[in-house]
Formats: sequence, structure tokens, C-alpha cells
Amino acid sequence: MEPLDAFRREVVAWLEDNCPRSQREPAGPEELYQGGSKGCFSSQDARTWFERMREKGWTVPDWPREYGGGGLSPGQAKVLKTEMKRLGCRPPLATGQGIAMLGPALFEYGSEQQKREHLPRIARGEVRWCQGYSEPGAGSDLANIQCRAEDKGDHFVVNGTKLWTSNADRADWIFCLVRTDPKAAKQAGISFLLIDMRQNGIEVRPIELISGESDFCQVFFENARAEKHNLLGDLNRGWTVAKRLLQHERTLMSQLSEIAVGPKFSPGEVARRYLSLENGVLTNSGLREQLVRYEMDAMALALSNQKAFEESGQGRLDPNSTSFFKYYATELDKRRGELKLALMGTQGLGWSGPGFDSDELMEPRTWAFSKALTIAGGSSEVQLNVIAKRVLDLPE
Ligand SMILES: Cc1cc2nc3c(=O)[nH]c(=O)nc-3n(C[C@H](O)[C@H](O)[C@H](O)COP(=O)(O)OP(=O)(O)OC[C@H]3O[C@@H](n4cnc5c(N)ncnc54)[C@H](O)[C@@H]3O)c2cc1C
Repeated sequence: MEPLDAFRREVVAWLEDNCPRSQREPAGPEELYQGGSKGCFSSQDARTWFERMREKGWTVPDWPREYGGGGLSPGQAKVLKTEMKRLGCRPPLATGQGIAMLGPALFEYGSEQQKREHLPRIARGEVRWCQGYSEPGAGSDLANIQCRAEDKGDHFVVNGTKLWTSNADRADWIFCLVRTDPKAAKQAGISFLLIDMRQNGIEVRPIELISGESDFCQVFFENARAEKHNLLGDLNRGWTVAKRLLQHERTLMSQLSEIAVGPKFSPGEVARRYLSLENGVLTNSGLREQLVRYEMDAMALALSNQKAFEESGQGRLDPNSTSFFKYYATELDKRRGELKLALMGTQGLGWSGPGFDSDELMEPRTWAFSKALTIAGGSSEVQLNVIAKRVLDLPE
């Protein structure tokens, strides 16, 4: 018998007993619980499901128990993930910037006090985090940040601004790159600060997008306070932490198919729904070829991802491969969006109004957002630069 078989049986029995039926349906964009002081449950079932999973530490199954996790080995965590996916169980707590990005950085660079203070609150969904990296003059050229923090003995005083900060208006804390030595060379004078946003010195302004929706904000710091004990890593060495955290972000984005919410139909299902088939074969040969190419590339990505995880032996990607997977997964996701709209024909053109069902109205939004994902976390061009430099060792 495989060593994980007994665990798998236990997991399946527990999930079947504890995951409410409604939490086994695909979630809409607003249905996943995001945690934090402003987080809302979409239903009583969503709350029950979250509370049961939190009790077991399965909001972050592979984190150690003392930090609020489930204490599972990478193999056990994978079994849980596989069985949740097979049974259609929703994530009880969305995989946000706390779980997927700051958490791993805290494990690597945090003091014991920082880990004990912040990790359990992420695991229990009590605190929602946002990422304060980009600024008006610092996106691809991230080391150009100007937001500064002055040392005032037991605390820092922060002044400046952060741009494109996703969900800052719903977050409680922000992890932030700040300049602590303006005289040092670009990368050398940066520190990594954890800042409580619930204070007067911080103002958050949502940025309205062309769609009328807004996930982005600009954050303004005017003499905001950050405690000294919330400096992550050494003073002026924040660039090392920042780069490592970006690798975790890129890993997250390379697993879009696992974390994505939104349209439930695959391109194949869309083809069956909208186009004519002869003996199960799509008659439009141009679209058929695009569909087959997409399916093959998606399968190749999933298998490569799996292989890379297994080879790393730690349940996470080798740092050098994160840019490749981020680049390929987000570019492929863009192709998926284009393909689905092409397969849907005129039914893929609706933004609002009658004549389109709710799934159809979701597709153009997902298509548009897929383009944003090739920019977030470092644009595709930046990923290609990193691959050229760090993976292929090409001359600059
Ligand atoms: C959906 C989304 C969510 C985001 N969330 C956050 C967040 O929560 N927190 C945060 O801090 N930031 C966030 N961002 C910002 C994101 O990190 C930046 O948009 C990204 O790094 C690009 O920076 P920029 O917008 O300033 O573009 P620029 O850096 O001005 O780039 C403009 C164009 O030039 C290209 N370019 C720039 N430099 C080079 C080069 N050296 N070689 C080749 N091409 C180059 C880029 O690829 C891009 O196409 C988010 C962005 C998006 C789209």
C-alpha cells in the first residue's frame, strides 16, 4: 500500500463530511472569502467551510502548526489539494498576497517574533495584506522606488506613494519597499517594511478603470509610522527580500489554472456549446487547429510545472524557473481568452444587457484581465530579460 493511501482516505472522508454542497460549485469572482477586517462571507456555508478548514489548519496546509498551518508534509499537502480539486471544493480562504507571497518570505527572512506575530493571523484570515512595490516612476525599474523611510529610533516615518496597489482599500497591512539610504546605489538603499494601514498617515484612493471597476489603488504615506520590529530582513538589504518575494508571486501566477475563478467552461466545452461538430469533430478547421494547439500547450505546461515541483523536492518551484513559468502561464492564459471569444462568435462580445447569460458576460472580462496578468508581477518583457540573464546566462 502507498504510504499516502491511508491519509488520502482520511482526507476524502473528512472533505465529504465537512465541505457543504454549495462550496463544491465553482466560485464566482466575489464568492471566495478574502479574509481581513473587511472580508465578507458570501453565505453561511462559506463561513462554516472556512471555520472548519481553519480549525484543521488547512487554510495553509503545509505551514507548521505553531504558525497556524496544518503541519502537512509536501506529499500530504498535494494529496489534500488533489482531492479538493477532484471533489470541486472551493478554497476556504482565497490564496492572496499574505498566503502566497508574504508568508513564504516571512518563513525565510522573518525573526521568530515576526513569524509568531504575522503568520497565524494570515492563516486564520484575520489580516489581509497588500503589496506596496510599484510607484509612478518604478514599475519594471523597481529599484527606482522613491518612497522613503526615516529612522526615528524605535520606529520609521514613511513618506511617499505606491501605485497600482491591488486591493489596498480592502487590506489591513501593506508590505512595502522603502528607501532608507538615499545616498546608496539604487538597490543598496532599500528596506522591506511591514506597515499597519489603520493609521492617519495613510490614505488609500481607488483608481477607476475603463470598465468602471477598480481593484487598483494609489496609497499615500504622509508621516506614516512603521515600528522598527516590523523591518523584514536587514536595514538596506530589502532588495534581497523583495526579489525572493517576487519569485513567490511569479510561482502563484504560474498556477493560474488552479487559482483562477471565473468562467467555468474550458475552450473545448465552449467549442461544443457554440459550434457545429461532425461526429464530435469541430468542422471549422482554423479554430480546430488553434484549439488543439492550445490544449497541447496547456498540457505541456501542466506537466512541466508538475515535474519542476517534484524535482525541487520541497513542494515549491526552483527560484530560477519562476520567471519562465510566470511568462508562459500568463501568455497562455491570454491565448485561452482570445480563443474562447473566437469560439463564441457574437456571443463573446457582450459586456452588459440582454441577450447574454451570466457566463457569457464573464468571458470578455476574463479576456481583458488576462492581458493585465502579463504585466502584473513583472511584465512578460521583464520575465524574458530575467530568463536571458539568470537562466540562460546570456551577455547583457
Ligand atoms: C493586474 C495588476 C495588478 C498589480 N498589482 C500590483 C500590486 O498589488 N502592487 C504593486 O506594487 N504593483 C502592482 N502592479 C503593478 C505592476 O507590478 C507594474 O505594472 C509592472 O511592474 C509594470 O510596471 P509599469 O506599469 O510601471 O510599466 P513600465 O515599467 O513603465 O513598462 C512599460 C512597458 O515597457 C516595457 N519595459 C520596461 N522596461 C523594459 C525593459 N528593460 N526591457 C523590455 N521592456 C521593458 C514593459 O514590459 C511594458 O510593456 C499590478 C499591475 C497589474 C497589471
